[in-house]
Amino acid sequence: MIFSSILEPPLRITASARPTATSVSRPGRTGWLTNALLALWLTLAGNLPLWQKLLAAGGTGATGAWLMFSLAAMVAGLIFAVLSLASWPGIHAPVASFLVLAAAANTHFMRTYGVVIDASMMANVMHTDAREVRDLLSLPLLLTLLLVAGPALWWIWGRPMPRQRLWPQLLRNAGAVALGLMVALACGIAGYQGLASLMRNHKTVRYMISPLNTVWGAGLLAAQSLPGKARASEPLGQDARLGASYAGQVRPLLLVLVIGETARAENWGLNGYARPTTPVLEQWQQQHGLVNFPDVRSCGTNTQVSVPCIFSPLGREAGGDRPGTNENLLDVLQRAGLAVMWLDNQSGCKGVCDRVPHASTRDLQLPGLCEGGECFDEAMLHGLDERIASLDAGRRQQGVVLVMHQMGSHGPAYHRRTPAAQKRFLPECSSNALPDCTPEQLRNAYDNTIAYTDHFLGRTLQWLQAQADEGAYDTGLLYVSDHGESLGEKGLYLHGLPYAFAPDQQTRVPMATWLSPGLQQRAGLDTGCLRARAAGPVSHDHVFHSVLGLLDIRTAARQAALDLYAPCRSG
Ligand SMILES: [Zn+2]
Repeated sequence: MIFSSILEPPLRITASARPTATSVSRPGRTGWLTNALLALWLTLAGNLPLWQKLLAAGGTGATGAWLMFSLAAMVAGLIFAVLSLASWPGIHAPVASFLVLAAAANTHFMRTYGVVIDASMMANVMHTDAREVRDLLSLPLLLTLLLVAGPALWWIWGRPMPRQRLWPQLLRNAGAVALGLMVALACGIAGYQGLASLMRNHKTVRYMISPLNTVWGAGLLAAQSLPGKARASEPLGQDARLGASYAGQVRPLLLVLVIGETARAENWGLNGYARPTTPVLEQWQQQHGLVNFPDVRSCGTNTQVSVPCIFSPLGREAGGDRPGTNENLLDVLQRAGLAVMWLDNQSGCKGVCDRVPHASTRDLQLPGLCEGGECFDEAMLHGLDERIASLDAGRRQQGVVLVMHQMGSHGPAYHRRTPAAQKRFLPECSSNALPDCTPEQLRNAYDNTIAYTDHFLGRTLQWLQAQADEGAYDTGLLYVSDHGESLGEKGLYLHGLPYAFAPDQQTRVPMATWLSPGLQQRAGLDTGCLRARAAGPVSHDHVFHSVLGLLDIRTAARQAALDLYAPCRSG
């Protein structure tokens, strides 16, 4: 966590500051008072976005005031119970500090981007990296941390908790926990009618209650990873083998799967967006039979969920969106005998590429393509022939599946995702405090990332076509984005809202495919038919089964009904 580095130097308790026999006898603050004040502070100052939302939702008048009072008292009671549970010397201060920092950070991100905190958001936080954190750092974040967490931290670390004997302390803590829970329960019952209607009509409110949302989300995550709870990695597609088309193949096949990042369907030129964000792909559509899928739903609203789900045999509703370490499409392709490789220009493959050759392009030092500790997506095209040549020769003779995981439109620092020469829409927002930019600047910065993805896909297609023209491979490409993005609609920014409440901007994604004449021929595919059918509803659920069908991999794990190419294949 970034916060530990902020906290540690000035606040580390030295041995001399630890409670000693004399400090125990000194009249210190009682744990009860400390926790009661902290609970009040966290409830009021640590939940500003929640109170703002309730006020905006009609929280005025006596009914509104009673609703806010009962919710506030309930939240304070629960926070008091959590703090009392941790009221042990050496434990209380770190736990309380974590809670106030979490509440302060939540306040900033909820106020600035309209996000809410649930288990999947917590999973994202756990899997973030320094570069993503850097994109989120800002002066407003620092100010919120200072204003919301500062006074509480000063209070917590001002004097250490007095050391008590075990049993009296245990009794005192248990009594305090019980008291907190009773207050919460009583207020919950007293305000039940209003609270129940609030939770029904504003379903995201429960994920806005800080820092309980963080505690709950982290608890759920921890429970999922308990030994025995985590899904064991089970072999998938053990019967996988190459189909009959491989026996007589003139050339091996080469399929590139591009996993996009944060591209949303609404701003995709091929879907009819008013601005020309995909001019290159439109040429490929008109001249080379590229097929665009305009109605595609993502599996999740964040990378952590969507990327594994895309490669999972399970659909979203069958559990493909749950965390797990199960084998996936890449394992099946490799098991069947193909050469597989994952190239990553982002924060990793979320476990999908663990058992296949993989490489990251983020740390390359390519002039013009890499700056500030990261690379533009085109860096993945650098030295691609050598990367493929490094794969197992026997497998390569059958075929190669290459995954490219883009940085794409990753926010909020959209302006960092496009080289200066590729910025088509100006002026663009160059701040990560998105609400500070005009809607036009924000749209420009985001559309530049889509146009850059168009440019990147165009270069990838050129490379694939050259491979086909040289007779080296029969080639194809399938592009799909992992989830969408909110750009200020309904006051929401970024992504990651719980799926059930997420707007279309976060769950509708672009997808397109192109196949060389050689690959169409060997797969018996009629792209005219594919194009005619492409307008129908599609989702990430289709990817696993479609790729196996396209590549003629025989396995019981493939469901023909979910193979998008199948209805357009002869034989
Ligand atoms: Zn993502």
